[in-house]
Amino acid sequence: MGRDIMKFNTALLHQQFDSNTQNGATITPIYQVSAFAQSSAEQLEKIFNNKAAGFAYTRISNPTVDAFEKRVAAMENGIGAVACSSGMAAVTMALLNILEAGDEVIAGSGLFGGTIDLFGDLKAFGITTRFVESVTAEAVAPLINEKTKVVFTELIGNPKLDVVDLKKVSALVHKHGIPLIIDSTTATPYLLHSFDYGADIVVHSSSKYINGGGNSISGVIIDSGKFAWDPERYHGFADYKKYGKFAYLAKLRNGIWRNFGSCLAPMNAFMNTVGMETLGLRMERICSNAKQLAEYLESQKDVTVNYPALQSSPYYDLVQSQFGGKGGAILTIRAGSKEKAFRLINHLQFAVNATNIGDVRTLVIHPASTIYTHSSEQQKRSAGVYDDTIRVSVGIEDIDDLIADFAQAIEQSKE
Ligand SMILES: *Cc1c(COP(=O)(O)O)cnc(C)c1O
Repeated sequence: MGRDIMKFNTALLHQQFDSNTQNGATITPIYQVSAFAQSSAEQLEKIFNNKAAGFAYTRISNPTVDAFEKRVAAMENGIGAVACSSGMAAVTMALLNILEAGDEVIAGSGLFGGTIDLFGDLKAFGITTRFVESVTAEAVAPLINEKTKVVFTELIGNPKLDVVDLKKVSALVHKHGIPLIIDSTTATPYLLHSFDYGADIVVHSSSKYINGGGNSISGVIIDSGKFAWDPERYHGFADYKKYGKFAYLAKLRNGIWRNFGSCLAPMNAFMNTVGMETLGLRMERICSNAKQLAEYLESQKDVTVNYPALQSSPYYDLVQSQFGGKGGAILTIRAGSKEKAFRLINHLQFAVNATNIGDVRTLVIHPASTIYTHSSEQQKRSAGVYDDTIRVSVGIEDIDDLIADFAQAIEQSKE
């Protein structure tokens, strides 16, 4: 049975994959070991040289991690996936697999703070990033030159909540022979299968919605297998041409990912596999909660709200056409002043004040004093972060309780 006849939630549970199960285990168990003994020196030689399937060492591959990778790849309709120790490791490895000194990246200036910082770190290695306020075909086109090797963006910016028109942007970059890497952490394949809209590589911080319970840091890179890596332009791919559509994944696994050592722990892979089975259910509930909470907040005169699925959002039409009207789990509130924002956060009973998103619990944070505390005023503006901004990652609580909680907190935060 293939995905073509299964819908999203059924596929999350029943899609066929080699799950390395034994004794009838319904989920691949945790192979909490570092090394895998083989029957002969010949067999270990074959495994090391990609001539036989099997496992040698957990930094390179592990059955529990392998099962998670296969399920994520199937969920995104990709040809394969590589799991990483964190979302940041996934972003870093996805980029370093194709970049070299002298190359340029085009990225949105409203990206996740850690990713913006990473582009700063890459300067020391001769890699330059050109930022655009919003990743649109019009903004990106003038920045493309012969050094441009990749365009990187988030599908729904965190916390700016700008939405990228994937079809338009991917059509433009492909015309120039450049791949599009999408960080789909906040959208998840529940909202959109990015490969159907022209993305070439997708990365996730699976610490967030894929895991869903806020219990493991991890990341994952998924390849569509559709981008033709021309070794004339992507020099490192000369030796990997023989792998055909698997060239990107083969290079990653045999090169920078393996050697950086940013592998995923088997325990965390297991937690993610358990979590992702309910991704569809959680996202359905979370998107519905977020929309109702956003509508309630919009009706309150003491705060303003930004949520892409609200009619007042500039992204409303795109959310309808690209995501079928669903706006994801994150909204931002402007409370009027930093003091009011702090009071509002402190009065919330159910929403937990923590620096994370994608938990089953509703989480809130004041980004300007935490995640963006080291950013310049310009960087904060570009990310849609003001002194009075509160980011809300909506959870699966009963919506009446959530609305009541925000109502009392807003009331009590007035002077
Ligand atoms: C959290 C996050 C990351 C980084 O992921 P970690 O698992 O924390 O390393 C990257 N991109 C986005 C959009 C995120 O929200």
